[in-house]
Amino acid sequence: MTTPLNRASHIRLTSHPGAGAPVRFPISWGAPTARERGPVIGSVTRPSDRNVIGAYGGAYALYRALAVAAGALNPIQRPDLTDTAPVVDIPANPAWRDPAAIVALDPWGHLVGEAFADEIGEGVDIRPTIAVTRAQLTMAEVAQAIDKGRLVPDGAILHPGGAVSVTKIAIDPVWHLPGIARRFQVAEPTLRRVLFEQTGGIYPELVTRPDLAVFLPPIGGATVYIFGDPARLADPAGRVTCRVHDECNGSDVFGSDICTCRPYLIHGIEECIRDAQTGSVGLVVYNRKEGRALGEVTKFLVYNARKRAAAGDTADAYFERTECVAGVQDARFQELMPDVFHWLGVTRIDRFVSMSNMKYEALINAGVAIGERVAIPDDLVPADAHVEIEAKKAAGYYAPTPADGAMLGDVRGRGIDDVSD
Ligand SMILES: [Zn+2]
Repeated sequence: MTTPLNRASHIRLTSHPGAGAPVRFPISWGAPTARERGPVIGSVTRPSDRNVIGAYGGAYALYRALAVAAGALNPIQRPDLTDTAPVVDIPANPAWRDPAAIVALDPWGHLVGEAFADEIGEGVDIRPTIAVTRAQLTMAEVAQAIDKGRLVPDGAILHPGGAVSVTKIAIDPVWHLPGIARRFQVAEPTLRRVLFEQTGGIYPELVTRPDLAVFLPPIGGATVYIFGDPARLADPAGRVTCRVHDECNGSDVFGSDICTCRPYLIHGIEECIRDAQTGSVGLVVYNRKEGRALGEVTKFLVYNARKRAAAGDTADAYFERTECVAGVQDARFQELMPDVFHWLGVTRIDRFVSMSNMKYEALINAGVAIGERVAIPDDLVPADAHVEIEAKKAAGYYAPTPADGAMLGDVRGRGIDDVSD
């Protein structure tokens, strides 16, 4: 018996363990090959094949649900993956076989169409969680940098009109819960229970299915932009220039002037382009963690509180105001950020275009070496953003001294920026 919205007329509750039947496709995290590791199956078209908690697409699963509810999407529709394979090779490296090195993404996520072609052909709904494509970026600041002579088109990476050739990679989060728990030094049952409770109980399997170790969280993922030859990222002899950027929609996209996020991002892109032109690989990792992962509503509330403070918008009160509103100064917790570097095989960043001590520490602690740290030039900081940058420097952000040396404050301190650095 079927209904228009689902194939079964009954509702399948997940609040209690099922009959205990083992999953058909077990996941062995860190296994040496995609087939031994097993596919991550977060589709709902055939529930009996699922082997994870949550659904493909993270937060977008909700829009998919709306499309089904509105009658616009057949609930058992499966993707046709013809011609969707990566346009460049991101080959396996030893970190893919280390269950502790990568815990927040599926290292085989871009290769499922190939690795599990037989199962997909038999109707198992296995979808990529990573996609690799190429594009050209056109940004006004890059054209201005050409006009000012800071960048020179080479016809390969940077084109005469200002367009920039890149490889770009979209990554959906895939959490291996035992590994996430270890990374944050909490017991896995505690992590599962808190995830269950703090999401209002929407994922009962977090607590009812301890046999399911993988969770597709309803959060944003990351986009990687590569300038130059991606194959050189994992080359021990290659050089890497990198910016890790946390999303700040207001500044990144709209040029809102209270923070330094877009100037930081553009500065990182400019350095990546210039270094890629001389044989390095440029890498921008863009993480969807809006408003220090507290969200844009919280962020705008903090802006109001800062602007209305009796003492004025001061560097001293910068972090305090966020904590007053959100209860925490920063929820980005960079501990998971290095996974993408392990995935790409990057073991050393020669030039790290960031002043954030939290990002720096997270990478160093994850075994990614960092050479030079590149600070944003003062003339790229908007006038209204100086409060932010002074607060960050006072809290331990990296800033070069006039003498040239590194002024490293308390690296365990509150190194956070408005959002992105
Ligand atoms: Zn910002």
